Amino acid sequence: MPTRYNSTFQNPTFSLMLKLDTLINRWIRPEIRAISAYHVPDSSGLIKLDAMENPYTWPEAMVNEWQVLLSKAPVNRYPDPAASRLVNSLRKEMAIPDEMGVMLGNGSDELIQIIAQAVARPDESIMSPTPSFVMYQMIATFVGMSFIGVPLNEAFALDIESMLMAIKTQQPAVIFLAYPNNPTGNLFNDGDIEKILEVAEGVVVIDEAYHAFAGQSWMGRLGEYPNLLVMRTVSKLGLAGLRLGFLVGPNGWIEQFDKVRLPYNINTLTQMTAEFALANIEIFNEQTRSIREQRESLMQQLNQIEGITPYPSAANFILFRVEKGLSNAIFNGIKERGVLIKNMGQSDGPLSDCLRVTVSSEAENHCFVEALKATLK
Ligand SMILES: *Cc1c(COP(=O)(O)O)cnc(C)c1O
Repeated sequence: MPTRYNSTFQNPTFSLMLKLDTLINRWIRPEIRAISAYHVPDSSGLIKLDAMENPYTWPEAMVNEWQVLLSKAPVNRYPDPAASRLVNSLRKEMAIPDEMGVMLGNGSDELIQIIAQAVARPDESIMSPTPSFVMYQMIATFVGMSFIGVPLNEAFALDIESMLMAIKTQQPAVIFLAYPNNPTGNLFNDGDIEKILEVAEGVVVIDEAYHAFAGQSWMGRLGEYPNLLVMRTVSKLGLAGLRLGFLVGPNGWIEQFDKVRLPYNINTLTQMTAEFALANIEIFNEQTRSIREQRESLMQQLNQIEGITPYPSAANFILFRVEKGLSNAIFNGIKERGVLIKNMGQSDGPLSDCLRVTVSSEAENHCFVEALKATLK
């Protein structure tokens, strides 16, 4: 049957769009409408130094062995919901204390989401220092909680007095501490973290996404505090495509969080591949050792460039400051020369004039340094 439109809107598409807008405004929460989606820039044709990926691939023999393994993957079946074999491999290779519980996530992003969903109440909050990993705040918003960001000091260390004060007055349900911190690259002071653990009534999650590059960990200290949990991911280690993170802590917490996890969140291919990769962990240890060496070399090179101030890093990236007002131009100049890094300096605040580069292979780092120098000329 033909549709009839009233005379006000000759254009059916226009009236439909108005209606669509009204519906969206009515149903989508204002705080969701207000944020912009997590933006992943197009990197085609560029050297990709924006996302802390490991640049190295696997030896051919290992790839062949892996392909044979995957050819037998029972993809007609649901995955093992507990991923028991993979959990056992992780326990062994990551020195997870026997008495602690483990929960796997589709990346540690999903673990942050699961933790938040389990504690979400409109009057409760999630806290982290700022600047830090943006997903803490985004996920707090997604689950309808408030987010409390406590600014780091000028050296990007914890402002411990403000932090303790904020914890005492607000008692957040969860505190996330990225260790080392992204995007600043530093490790927070362990004594400060101890104070936080003592004062906080909520869960304190030490996010060790960059563990492979840090040389320090809280994993061995699990059990010392009832509210301490440690989260890691295999992404920065060299397996970002698998989407696998793990949360470790007292069984009581893990059992509760595990109820919120969707049953088959770690797919069969990821389970098999991660287990295979962990059986070949020395390849990854060698790659990350090489990246740590490259980090020191890149740091020296950046230190020698006039107008560039790099910050110390215990991760596989380096944050650096450029001269005032130049971050956009320098970011674009480097990009025009074929290298994509991350521009942190678009807004005012502690990261104005800052850029972040992933530490890669010697060859890619060289391309970046040359692009930076040519841009500064
Ligand atoms: C990259 C990153 C994550 C996310 O890791 P995935 O496992 O890939 O989701 C978590 N925390 C920090 C601090 C990160 O930098």
